[in-house]
Amino acid sequence: MSQDLPRIPLLINGRLVPSRTTEWRPVINPATQERLAWVPMATADEVRDAVAAAQAAFATWRKTPIGQRARIFLKYQQLIRDNIKSLAATLTAEQGKTLADAEGDVFRGLEVVEHAANIGSLQMGERAHNVASGVDTYTLLQPLGVCAGITPFNFPAMIPLWMFPMAIACGNTFVLKPSEQDPMVTMRLVELALEAGIPPGVLNVVHGGEDVVNALCDHADIKAISFVGSTRVGTHVYQRATLAGKRVQCMMGAKNHAVVLPDAHKEQTLNALVGAAFGAAGQRCMAVSVAVLVGAAREWIPRIVEKARGLTVGAGTGAGTDVGPVISCAAKERVEALIARGTDEGATLELDGRLPPLDGQLKEGNFVGPTIFSGVKPGMSLYEQEIFGPVLCIAEAATLDEAIAFINANPNGNGTAIFTQSGAAARRFEEDIDVGQVGINVPIPVPVPLFSFTGSRASKLGDLGPYGKQVVTFYTQTKTVTARWFDDHGVSGGVNTTISL
Ligand code: NAD
Repeated sequence: MSQDLPRIPLLINGRLVPSRTTEWRPVINPATQERLAWVPMATADEVRDAVAAAQAAFATWRKTPIGQRARIFLKYQQLIRDNIKSLAATLTAEQGKTLADAEGDVFRGLEVVEHAANIGSLQMGERAHNVASGVDTYTLLQPLGVCAGITPFNFPAMIPLWMFPMAIACGNTFVLKPSEQDPMVTMRLVELALEAGIPPGVLNVVHGGEDVVNALCDHADIKAISFVGSTRVGTHVYQRATLAGKRVQCMMGAKNHAVVLPDAHKEQTLNALVGAAFGAAGQRCMAVSVAVLVGAAREWIPRIVEKARGLTVGAGTGAGTDVGPVISCAAKERVEALIARGTDEGATLELDGRLPPLDGQLKEGNFVGPTIFSGVKPGMSLYEQEIFGPVLCIAEAATLDEAIAFINANPNGNGTAIFTQSGAAARRFEEDIDVGQVGINVPIPVPVPLFSFTGSRASKLGDLGPYGKQVVTFYTQTKTVTARWFDDHGVSGGVNTTISL
């Protein structure tokens, strides 16, 4: 391990500390293969120390006044805003997406921080007066204790910010396990959270992979786990952590379909489709990875190809770049192998993005250019797997009903969109499609924090989604208090052993 690179610290009890582990992995710029830092695979003792610090801090944090909690997030949102350019630069260096897209990643997380500053009105209980004579009932939404978050590589700013601000604003303490592939921007956000005034032990960070995640799932003092990532890992986390008695929410993999009806606004639709298929090199859980062209919309394929061919592939830092690299050499090999299988399995390769022409150091990068297949059908690997790269699959349907049935038969239910000028068609689609996020002429929306992120079928486990109102329910325990206060007018009646009517 070269000594000159920064070593990413853990955060335990308010202190950024070096890990004692012997296992370190490089954080690599995916556009150039330049090594940026070393990330530790934390030891079992370090995970225990982080949870112990969170558990100890909970005793006072849970009783901290609402205004005091809220003001930290008011300050935090300003600090993120002030640092958004440098946060985006760090994000692009380690993740690869364009600088503008990286700023969007930070901004969508910032919106959740702004929402966390409203915790006073979000965490209010209910009250009913005189539920019986002289008796009142009310609810307290109390924090759970130590919560943990496990995040993926593709939104290293937004997704950690989906989790710890709302959990902490509700009065919980937190242990975050960022993606080991791009933890640097997450750590910068964590440093800003400390600067905003989050007290020691309230937010802790451990780095690592499978062993650290399993330790969090098993730890008796962790009450709830939020996970975002692949379906394979999320299913494992859900099963393991629920077996250990925890509350768990897992937002997982996707295969997002966009239905295009022939009455759609053609240029707007095709721009939206191509942007959502290839933006962030297809590494968004909300990327459009399948276009379902209905009826005469199939004639738009050449125009889709033309628009995709016009996109610029390059480093995320480059002016004019549309499509950056995929996250790792392994991801690039996987995407290329799926493209090869696509042609073997009978799909038509309309645009081949393998080996895009690049100069200098970028030749070493993990680049795949926009790739388009038509004639894609269920059963093909291209359709069955989440590619998570810049590959758009085109399928066809004769009618809207056929398109709806096609999408509902896919196991994933993360996001979908319809493009049409018909309100009636859009309304039928929103009602009958079994998918969490639905876009109407919008490809594909991540809901703002007035709402919660969701998902159906294989894309989500657990009932409640991240951020918004649902996450306040997730991060709190409802306690129902029924109270009678006696006055001095004497004792009426005697002992009553029946349930009251
Ligand atoms: P991933 O599942 O490989 O990793 C997610 C987290 O789990 C990381 O912190 C990682 O360190 C950890 N992990 C990896 N392997 C593990 C194992 N064997 N046991 C325990 N923990 C393990 O996901 P990723 O590749 O980082 O992210 C891409 C995936 O995330 C895609 O499937 C994408 O659709 C999904 N995603 C979903 C949403 C959503 O909201 N539904 C949002 C973003 C990303």
